[in-house]
Amino acid sequence: MNNFLLTLLLLPLFSSACSQHAESADTSDAPTADMGPKLVRSAPPLPRQARITVTFAAAPATATVRIAPLLYNKTRVLHFEEDDSPLAVFTEAYPLFRGLHFTDGCGHPRPYTGAVAINGHNPSYNGIEWLNDGLGHDSGKLLWAQAQTLLDHGWDVENHSDLHTADNPAPARQLADLDALISKRLNGYKPSVFVVPTNFAGYPTAAFEAGYLAVTSASQGDQFLMLNPYNDQRIPLSSLPVPPDKFVYRRYNADLAAGETSAALITRLNRLSDDLMAPGDPVTEQYLQRVFTHGIDRNVLAAWMNHTQTIAHDQLWVTTLREFDEYRRTSHEVKKTETLRGNTLTIDLDYTGVHPLTRFPNLTLLLDSPGSITNITVTGADSSSSNRTTKMVNIFRH
Ligand SMILES: [Zn+2]
Repeated sequence: MNNFLLTLLLLPLFSSACSQHAESADTSDAPTADMGPKLVRSAPPLPRQARITVTFAAAPATATVRIAPLLYNKTRVLHFEEDDSPLAVFTEAYPLFRGLHFTDGCGHPRPYTGAVAINGHNPSYNGIEWLNDGLGHDSGKLLWAQAQTLLDHGWDVENHSDLHTADNPAPARQLADLDALISKRLNGYKPSVFVVPTNFAGYPTAAFEAGYLAVTSASQGDQFLMLNPYNDQRIPLSSLPVPPDKFVYRRYNADLAAGETSAALITRLNRLSDDLMAPGDPVTEQYLQRVFTHGIDRNVLAAWMNHTQTIAHDQLWVTTLREFDEYRRTSHEVKKTETLRGNTLTIDLDYTGVHPLTRFPNLTLLLDSPGSITNITVTGADSSSSNRTTKMVNIFRH
């Protein structure tokens, strides 16, 4: 190959301000539109430190770095989850979400993800496992293999109590029983989000005591603070307690109300997204909305999500409570140091203090400097992406 042709082929690589790197030899770990983060690592464990080296065209007057409030430096977050293990989460919501994307801020599409809250055993049918593909399986419910596929594509499986009853056995036992069952059936998966069944008291307390990191409910918080106080309104991120303070995430019910038409439900949900995406007060604020359902018509879900995508303008992170909550925690738990010498800013991230249950210890860094960036390298991560124009770097460790 002559040099001219080689230059032509390589030109797009070097002229683009965006780049993406897989740090491990196996590039299949690099995030793509279809491959969500995986829980089970096949590669050797990462070192506890990551290093980001930023090279400027000339020594800048100043250069500092901060962790973005949200992954990919988005300004809005939407969570969607379905309760009681419905099959439709796999056959309808999952394919729809896979076709909808935001970007990582560096030119790479990322699909929407959501969650399913599952129960363990059916007390009304000989106590069989809801998700078992065997005699007595309710065809309207998910199967373990489908739940595993969701996990493999970045979705979450949440603990919703073993029997979905107030007691008999007590909340702590029901929580532990399902925790163990999920681990057994889903390759050792350890859930960290608990969804309170109905509005039964005692579950939020039991979940935190069992080491669960996030608890959510529409109406039951035991003695814990519940946020948002008004469940049809978005919540400013600045009003959430600083990790690891415990509180219960309130969520908005997207079930069809008695007498409500599908068209009216679409209007109601579209308004929720309109409110989420509306300008902030102050304009620099970020906002969260959490939505759940026990089942939603596929056309309603599609209409709402397509509307949401239309107004999102790549400012919206559609993800799970687990990934969102872990971003907030990791932001506080990681230790960041930085040194500017000449034209090079070196940033070290120490993950030693990050909670061991963290599935998505990913971060977005924002560089504040008048200098012109010529190169960004990252070591000690599974993969990374960066944008020299907007001066941001995503560091993926999953
Ligand atoms: Zn339920």
